[in-house]
Amino acid sequence: MENKFRFYNTLSRQVETLIPNEDGKIAMYTCGPTVYHFAHIGNLRSYIMEDILEKSLRFIGYDVKRVMNITDVGHLSSDADTGEDKMLKGAKREHKTVMEVAQFYTDAFFSDCEKLNIKRPDVVEPATNCIDEFIHMIEVLIAKGYAYAAGGNIYFDTSKLDDYYVFSSQTEKELMVGVRDDVEEDTNKRNKNDFVLWFTKSKFEDQALKWDSPWGVGYPGWHIECSCISMKHLGEYMDIHCGGVDNIFPHHTNEIAQSESYVGHKWCNYWFHVHHLNDKSGKMSKSKGDFLTVSLLEEKGYNPLVYRMFCLQSHYRKPLEFSFEVLDQVKGTYDKLVKKIASLSTDGAFEEDKYKEYRAKFEEALCNDVNTSMAITVIYDLLKSDMNDATKRKAIEDFDTVLSLGLLSGAGEASETDEEPELVAYVEEMIAKRAAAKKEKDFATADAIRDALLSKGIVIKDTREGVVWNRQ
Ligand code: AMP
Ligand code: ZN
Repeated sequence: MENKFRFYNTLSRQVETLIPNEDGKIAMYTCGPTVYHFAHIGNLRSYIMEDILEKSLRFIGYDVKRVMNITDVGHLSSDADTGEDKMLKGAKREHKTVMEVAQFYTDAFFSDCEKLNIKRPDVVEPATNCIDEFIHMIEVLIAKGYAYAAGGNIYFDTSKLDDYYVFSSQTEKELMVGVRDDVEEDTNKRNKNDFVLWFTKSKFEDQALKWDSPWGVGYPGWHIECSCISMKHLGEYMDIHCGGVDNIFPHHTNEIAQSESYVGHKWCNYWFHVHHLNDKSGKMSKSKGDFLTVSLLEEKGYNPLVYRMFCLQSHYRKPLEFSFEVLDQVKGTYDKLVKKIASLSTDGAFEEDKYKEYRAKFEEALCNDVNTSMAITVIYDLLKSDMNDATKRKAIEDFDTVLSLGLLSGAGEASETDEEPELVAYVEEMIAKRAAAKKEKDFATADAIRDALLSKGIVIKDTREGVVWNRQ
């Protein structure tokens, strides 16, 4: 098939045309959540944009297989190998076992995803399912000379690689080596950037999850899980790997180091990173304790899809600042849009040429580095166009398989308008009078009412779902 999808590849630091390893097929991997707490709406920004990426690829005709891990072991409170195990921290906080905490927050994560219309990946695999695979990969890395035992742990030896800082430019590489001089020192490491593949010298007496290994009872490091889980389901060659920008270093850098040392060739061709959602005090993060969740938005009366629209209105490569003022504005825009779409009648034969014209524009927006705000503009443009209502509905229904904003199904919800109550009462009274007139076959009065409303800029339409109105 024609490869026309262009997006920014963090590895090459430029916008590139995606050329999959296998024609028409995409092997895609997403770093899943660390399930020690609810996902915050920042995490979910990443998953919304990755969902759009997956659905865009499907929309333009690719067969996508997407895999996601669930981090239920090994992620310490620092992304390097220091601090407390995040899962253990969650279990202590809630007086539950680690596995209970993992199950609870995994379910909560997918429930949030469902509310945000984020498709569940084809394969979802918890890290604790794959201990044998981790041990095998580590054994191979040791055998190939890329890993060593020290102080009871197994480390990856970054000095064995010609280019460890794959994501950085030359000047950044020089700077990074300097910056990491002040990182807490683990005297077992041969080089500052070496990272743990397997812990046996647990820093925590009560580390809940431990497994037998050739190196003693212990548990895996965080990075190894994504290399193993992706290879288990996608093989040795991957097309796209996704995550938030905070994953670039050290997580993804370490994934590449160990995966390519293991397979002996290039592993993943394209890296897609979503920039952060920030609040006024900076990056939203779970460790800050006080963070926004989907449930909290719902408690405040927001439809979660309004938050999805909030994310789609800005580009995934730009930092996005969250505020309720902006969310309120998006709510207004969303409700009006859904209401406008609900007012489309089902009249007219399908206008294929016009549909194709707008579909091409919509695809162009997606293929232009996932330009979601431009894709939404295409919806507004087609609503303004001379396309008939039935074709408009069909086009929006199709485009919403990517945007997933509930543009057609949300009609009921959005009818709670933010128009002034007096105006709503007036229009509704007029609509009722018109209905009564029509029932009496008094079409002159019914038409006069329609015209009276029109003179005030109110358009009414008879649809299958009843009479709907909107401003001209
Ligand atoms: P975690 O559950 O911490 O492993 O993170 C899950 C995903 O959310 C990862 O892809 C992170 O890179 C991403 N992420 C973390 N914080 C943010 C944020 N404030 N904005 C956007 N994405 C984030
Ligand atoms: Zn990962």
